[in-house]
Amino acid sequence: MTDLPRPDDPGGKAVLLKPGKDKAVRNRHHWIFSGAVRRFPDFEDGEILDVRDANGGFLGRGYFNRRSSITGRMIAFDETPPGEAVENAVRRAAALRERLLGGSTDAFRVVNGEGDGLPGLIVDRYGGVLVLQISTLGIERLKPAILDVLERTLSPETILEKSNLPSRREEGMAPFEGLLRGRPVEAVEIRENGLRFRVDLAASQKTGFYLDQRENRKLVRDLAAGRRVLNAFCYTGGFTIAAWAGGAASITSLDVSAPALELARANVGLNGFSGRENTYLLGDAFETLRRLPLDFDLIILDPPAFAKRKSEVVAACRGYKDIHRIVFQKCPEGALILTFSCSYFVDEKLFRQVIFQAAGEAGRRVQIIGRHRPTGDHPVNVFHPEGDYLKGWLLHAG
Ligand code: SAH
Repeated sequence: MTDLPRPDDPGGKAVLLKPGKDKAVRNRHHWIFSGAVRRFPDFEDGEILDVRDANGGFLGRGYFNRRSSITGRMIAFDETPPGEAVENAVRRAAALRERLLGGSTDAFRVVNGEGDGLPGLIVDRYGGVLVLQISTLGIERLKPAILDVLERTLSPETILEKSNLPSRREEGMAPFEGLLRGRPVEAVEIRENGLRFRVDLAASQKTGFYLDQRENRKLVRDLAAGRRVLNAFCYTGGFTIAAWAGGAASITSLDVSAPALELARANVGLNGFSGRENTYLLGDAFETLRRLPLDFDLIILDPPAFAKRKSEVVAACRGYKDIHRIVFQKCPEGALILTFSCSYFVDEKLFRQVIFQAAGEAGRRVQIIGRHRPTGDHPVNVFHPEGDYLKGWLLHAG
């Protein structure tokens, strides 16, 4: 047994894994934790290295950063050269969207990180504009090559970056936002299933719009007819517009962000729904829901991730429980509640426990009548369950 590449092997600089620590990589899991590494070669953080098992057997290539606890992320599980592996992954990702979405929308996620075999990279498309989110130093170093591939495969007019992620600190990178290619763009109008949305790219959350809720916007459209709707945590009104398109009787849109609420109002106008019974409430949802009578037939709860890290799970559950208890205490008999958790750390089982506790405390009979996930432009790699963050449940309060 040797821990050096065999002399007849032309491989480059290699990371050697500890005995038994090659299993996850062999299973095509992208992450290599620092504890799995037996020896690094001389290298610069962010560099792409060969990855070998304890016997020197070649496993593929990944980029490495010693500062991060996830020290390596695989970009190829075979001999494909890194540039080609990235190009192939982008092409495969783009082809999947083409097959799944056809012409139903001009806004979708083109590359979903590990879900598309490209850890550390998100690419969202808003019409002619691509917005990149880069979370790792390895992808940062690959950026020029990635931009070339995106231009070749998708022919965008503009490429922006919105990498204002706190997690970049662990990689030794500051947040960054700016124009990468093409002409500057502040805002765009997108179309989704016949509805129009203005997306403020300059001052937005995430990359601009909650693309991961597309299928749930359809669901709301199907559920809304004749119903009085509360859209809590409405952001720029995605569910509000969908509910109007589905024939809602009235809609109350609530958010703590004034610019988000303004854009929600503008989007209502853009779709010709201004003359209807719209109420906009600016304020904290917890406080506002405690104060309102909650005479609604369809209540949408789509809060931000209450737990961004594991240590916040307990506090997050308290938040989820409070908001559901308030709703269950006051909503009318037969109300439907479409509720979401986008905290990866609050998994499906925990989310269910919290909801059931809230129902118990409110003394309410609550049924789960639907389970909902993001759609095909947010694929989850089966080897990487960490990518499965958003879950939505449709509840019935009897
Ligand atoms: N449902 C939206 C996305 C929601 S994102 C969509 O489909 O587009 C979460 C939203 O919650 C953000 O707009 C944020 O401003 C808002 N928010 C965060 N904390 C809040 C609070 N305590 N009360 C009300 N809104 C809050």
